[in-house]
Amino acid sequence: MRETSITSVVIIGAGIFGVSSAVQLVRRGVSVTLLNDGPVANGASGRSLSWLNSSRMRSDAYHRLRMAGIDRYRTLAARLGPVEWLSFEGGLTWDADDAANEIDAAYRHEISLAYDAEHLSAGAVEGRVAGVDARMVTQQGAIFNPGEGWVDLPSLIKVLLDEFTGRGGVVVTDAGAARVVVENGRAVGAATASGTMFSADAVLLATGPSVPAMVAEAGQQIDDDTPVSLLVTTKPIAHPLKAVLNTPRVAIRPTPGGAFALDAGWSEEEVERHPDGSFGVRQQTVDGLLDEASKVLAGNPTLECASYGVGKKPIPGDGDPVFGELQAISGYFVAFSHSGATLGLIAGELLAHEIVTGERHPMLADFRPERFARKV
Ligand SMILES: Cc1cc2nc3c(=O)[nH]c(=O)nc-3n(C[C@H](O)[C@H](O)[C@H](O)COP(=O)(O)OP(=O)(O)OC[C@H]3O[C@@H](n4cnc5c(N)ncnc54)[C@H](O)[C@@H]3O)c2cc1C
Repeated sequence: MRETSITSVVIIGAGIFGVSSAVQLVRRGVSVTLLNDGPVANGASGRSLSWLNSSRMRSDAYHRLRMAGIDRYRTLAARLGPVEWLSFEGGLTWDADDAANEIDAAYRHEISLAYDAEHLSAGAVEGRVAGVDARMVTQQGAIFNPGEGWVDLPSLIKVLLDEFTGRGGVVVTDAGAARVVVENGRAVGAATASGTMFSADAVLLATGPSVPAMVAEAGQQIDDDTPVSLLVTTKPIAHPLKAVLNTPRVAIRPTPGGAFALDAGWSEEEVERHPDGSFGVRQQTVDGLLDEASKVLAGNPTLECASYGVGKKPIPGDGDPVFGELQAISGYFVAFSHSGATLGLIAGELLAHEIVTGERHPMLADFRPERFARKV
């Protein structure tokens, strides 16, 4: 393997991409400083549904990357043994009974890729997946993917950071908004809000939804389709559901503390955006999500809200991940993607490989930032 002269890296952003890359870099002997504006995991990674999957239809390249992502979680699970923050109890999904229902097509697609999938009628769901009110499954049936799972990202981030600092990595939290410093067409470090400069041979920008605006400061273009999202966490409840549910009106995953995390497309749309940039969540929206979740859970339990997280969910303009070095600014790497739970471990591994070796990894070939370069 060709090694470059990169011996020090500054990473801006302590979400899953920044932290995963940080630990991979220190494992390779690189000196790493990780800067975050607030406490770690205070962005999307702290309020994510975190369903580990490659279900439904997408490009082959994106599917392969996601499968590699799930593979790395499997390896981690095997290494750690049972932990309450990482689970592979499968995922169950169904669609509304309307013209957009794609369950049959999705199932055929998935089995064509050997993606583990079972097409179940409502009657069959009951005996296969514990904790579901199968009466809610529509007539087209559901897909059960036994190989899927979920992760609690703040727990994973804590484990990774323990290793990172144990190997000498430096974490600087509550540092305010940092920026990448570029000199003579090269990233030379990062400066915090107070003006402290951290020099390095390369910089990784992993600031979640802030990535497009921050690269724009350096004259670079990454298209952005970031929406506002809402994740509601219930109070703990004794319930048999272990799988992740993705249903027409709500997605549900278990949490480490015996509660459920909930989200839905319609609830995101109900989030209020205030002129000062903050967000408002109506009680009615939270109650609506709890109600929709109760309907699809066996026994229709009464669910209570323990907390909710609201904020931006990073999504690139074309929906595909954005990973790698900016072609116009050497040493300036970016990580910006949806599905960052599924991709978190593999993205850190491949980005560290690229930073240290200077080689562009073929698995990231379709996900380069330069695809957004303005056509003149
Ligand atoms: C509601 C919801 C549901 C989701 N569901 C799934 C799912 O089911 N499956 C899946 O795989 N993925 C899912 N995702 C996506 C996944 O959670 C994200 O892709 C991932 O968490 C993004 O991680 P990140 O490191 O890019 O960003 P973040 O976690 O946002 O981290 C970026 C960090 O950078 C910090 N920062 C920003 N600007 C600066 C600055 N200038 N200086 C210093 N620090 C800065 C932020 O405060 C933050 O801590 C979901 C996300 C949400 C929100």
